Amino acid sequence: MGLAGRVPVDLNREKGNYPLNAKPSHFSSLDSILHKVLHEEPLARQEVLHLLAPKKQEEQEGIYEVARRLRDRYFGNKVFLYGFVYFSTWCRNHCTFCFYRAPNVLCERYRKTDEEILDAVTRLAESGVHLLDMTMGEDPACYNREDDFKRLLNLIKKAKKETGLPMMVSWGVVPDSVLERLPAAGADWFACYQETHNPELFRKLRLDQDYQRRLDIKTRAKKLGMLIEEGILSGVGESLEDVVDSIEAMKAMEAHQVRVMNFIPQKGTPLADYPSPHPEQESRMIAILRLLLPHRLIPASLDVYGIDGLRDKLRAGANVVTSLILPSSELRGVAQSTLGICEGLRSAKAVTPVLTELGLRRATLEEYISWVEHEKEQLTKDSSKRERSSQTIAAR
Ligand code: SF4
Repeated sequence: MGLAGRVPVDLNREKGNYPLNAKPSHFSSLDSILHKVLHEEPLARQEVLHLLAPKKQEEQEGIYEVARRLRDRYFGNKVFLYGFVYFSTWCRNHCTFCFYRAPNVLCERYRKTDEEILDAVTRLAESGVHLLDMTMGEDPACYNREDDFKRLLNLIKKAKKETGLPMMVSWGVVPDSVLERLPAAGADWFACYQETHNPELFRKLRLDQDYQRRLDIKTRAKKLGMLIEEGILSGVGESLEDVVDSIEAMKAMEAHQVRVMNFIPQKGTPLADYPSPHPEQESRMIAILRLLLPHRLIPASLDVYGIDGLRDKLRAGANVVTSLILPSSELRGVAQSTLGICEGLRSAKAVTPVLTELGLRRATLEEYISWVEHEKEQLTKDSSKRERSSQTIAAR
């Protein structure tokens, strides 16, 4: 379909791109809200909206400071690094914001062989990452022939055996039969971003996809014992009320990792001319996530502004660096598909000095595995508790 496949998408340009600077005004309640946040007291919706509203720079610095204190409370100075293995850029879907949507003829398509994938994961493991994020679009090769998922399940098993690293699977809304087999294959995490929790906006972003099915698959993944990652896009026409709804949804589903990424327009897509928000919007959103979900993992992705944007996101309270890709792997990123890869700027080696400069450090692998195992044990305890209470109710 190519460029002819562009469909008009009526996103609200007034929304999604929040003014960052407050006009001179007096935010008398900000201190009291931050006080509550530090004591981890629940906030009223209006208070969350207040946090999201434009701020003067010194007020914003106060928010970043509290975000760092909360990160420190739960994670000390440890930062986790995730290797990104985007092994197939083929996709059957038409998401309006995505470079790799099915009709886009301007993106580079590839589908890596098992050998190439295993080679990439081994080298990423040697480079010092803590997790391998095994990602593909909803590749028709698999989605049209369920048997082809078998190869991927085996691949996860081999990659885990080879590297000993925790595995994250980001393959889209996989069939239930595949989801059920992921934990036994070695998947520790299941990532599937909603991007927005406003169903109407979802329909404009993820054309012809089922909002509820995408949401529910994360609950099912958790019931199967996997940790889950949820994510939102910032700057795609959402209102501040939508952002609060998203945060509440991520809280309610008890996502273990919550990510926000700024929208970056992609050539050849319906949103190619839609403006990207100010880079600081992403850091501000990261800080809000840390304030409201202090004990969760919050990534700073190298995929949006590369190594140059990393410092601000870590200063805002992020505690995971994602999208590490080694130059020799010939793999791509998503939002900025090639940014910093050839130059080696998406490596553990390049990230480490930034961590040191901010008083942070690369966690040890044992520290990361122990966090993952602890969270998985909690999942098992929670599900046995649920089972016991439903048995009690049934017995009444
Ligand atoms: S966001 Fe994912 S599902 Fe949507 S078009 Fe891109 S690769 Fe496919």
